[in-house]
Amino acid sequence: MLAFSDLPLIEPLHRAVAAAGYEKPTPIQAQAIPLLLDGRDMIGCARTGTGKTAAFALPVLDALAQETPRSRRIRALVLSPTRELAAQIQASFDTYGRYLPLKSMVIFGGVKQGRQVQALNAGVDILVATPGRLLDLISQGYIKLSHVEFFVLDEADRMLDMGFIHDIRKVIKHLPRERQSLLFSATMPPPIAALAREFLHNPARVDADPPASTVKKVNQSVMFVSREDKRALITHLLQTEDVEQAIVFTRTKHGANRLVKQLDQSGVSAAAIHGNKSQNARTRALDGFRDGTIPVLVATDIASRGIDVEGVSHVFNYDLPNEPESYVHRIGRTGRAGRDGVAIAFCDETEGDFLKQIERLTGKRIERVTDHAFHSDEAEALPPSPKEVRGGRGGGGRRGPPWE
Ligand code: AMP
Repeated sequence: MLAFSDLPLIEPLHRAVAAAGYEKPTPIQAQAIPLLLDGRDMIGCARTGTGKTAAFALPVLDALAQETPRSRRIRALVLSPTRELAAQIQASFDTYGRYLPLKSMVIFGGVKQGRQVQALNAGVDILVATPGRLLDLISQGYIKLSHVEFFVLDEADRMLDMGFIHDIRKVIKHLPRERQSLLFSATMPPPIAALAREFLHNPARVDADPPASTVKKVNQSVMFVSREDKRALITHLLQTEDVEQAIVFTRTKHGANRLVKQLDQSGVSAAAIHGNKSQNARTRALDGFRDGTIPVLVATDIASRGIDVEGVSHVFNYDLPNEPESYVHRIGRTGRAGRDGVAIAFCDETEGDFLKQIERLTGKRIERVTDHAFHSDEAEALPPSPKEVRGGRGGGGRRGPPWE
């Protein structure tokens, strides 16, 4: 991994970054900073927490520090959807620019404009603003954007959600043509992609975290088994499959407790986590799972939300969920960090409908594995009719799988 010293930033910025206690650039910083120093426009797919603020603030400060115009004027404009975020961004400019003679300020609505106007009149180099107040002050003649060299649109998808897209277009009309523009967004809905095409020139694209679907693969299968044989089948699989760490999902808390007992009796070390367990017991179970002393967690859906453990090799749907979306969330717990994962579902004689719903939601047929010791023809005798698989749930506009 790159060190900050590998980035060709001016010395006062290296000093400020060291003073902030940063040891090395985050992935988005390592990718974005060289491109931005080169003068490229950029689309950054990144959410808060990735270090994206420094990714744009450092190169902007670097460029602005290269020349000192006789009077201060707005040379960098950052648009942010909320006042909290705007204030945070401006504080970051202060932090990183502490050894530079540049001035930044923040303006947002909901407060009187008098002080903001006063400060603007005193001159600023970097302005961080929410769209509404910015347009207000432009229309009153307090702000001119004709010297802006850098334009940053932060959290573009949130801007869209909050109804700011027209305001943003209005702001862009006030900017000079010759400028460097950046757009950051956690997601890229079509209106944002369209906006990006309008105001960015040949942008480089930088992803802080590549979409989960490109880094992991989950091999899914389903086994038909009678209700009373499920326990024997799971014990058999946990003992014979190449299981490093597994999460077994049950429908009920009692089911989870019962299964843990059974597994323990068969010599498989497991712990249950569900809503009836105390926070302490849950933490203990999770810690044991994380450090590898407990290889199997038996969980209900609610309890599984907080589980974020690297290296879960297997997810078992001991009971199929009655909400098909839960299936997708459950199997998303395996195959992390570029490793393949295995998701095996059990389907008993009462669960055929759940299986159908899952396949309808995902639009894929899950591979049937029938050559196992506990196969049940009766459980399998519920083939989904092709017509139902194709049709939407309830016939109405069914939305696609959650990852699309
Ligand atoms: P952001 O995604 O820009 O909101 O940044 C998230 C947090 O990460 C902020 O508290 C920053 O101070 C911190 N941060 C940014 N860059 C680094 C870095 N290279 N090393 C350590 N912390 C950082």
